[in-house]
Amino acid sequence: MTADVKNSVKTEADCLFCKIIAGEIPSYKVYEDDVVYAFKDINPKAKVHVLVVPKNHYKNVAELAEQSPETLVHIVETAKNIANDAFGGSFRLIFNTGKEAGQSVFHVHAHVLTGEVLDE
Ligand code: AMP
Ligand code: ZN
Repeated sequence: MTADVKNSVKTEADCLFCKIIAGEIPSYKVYEDDVVYAFKDINPKAKVHVLVVPKNHYKNVAELAEQSPETLVHIVETAKNIANDAFGGSFRLIFNTGKEAGQSVFHVHAHVLTGEVLDE
């Protein structure tokens, strides 16, 4: 199996991140390829706070791991590359999963926090 590709993009109506990926809502792009789109979080919690999202719509990281583990690996590699460029490779990777855990957008996204020494 290979990671998801753009020509089979699965989207969901009224999904904020599907609209950002489609360019219908503006964002500050950091990186893009056929599988993922990475952009600055609008409310940064670190000097560098980037969201990495698969172009295909999955509701959370558990669903992504089940349905496309290669895409999850690709997200981690993208985070690593962002952190290599920004801060010598150190980064924090967060997937809020479920409303009670703080997930507010139900299109899976990795929070990549880097660019400075982070609090424990
Ligand atoms: P979560 O709470 O884990 O679902 O994360 C959602 C993240 O999306 C939050 O950190 C928000 O600051 C961020 N966010 C919401 N709307 C936008 C937007 N239009 N552009 C960039 N980031 C956004
Ligand atoms: Zn979506």
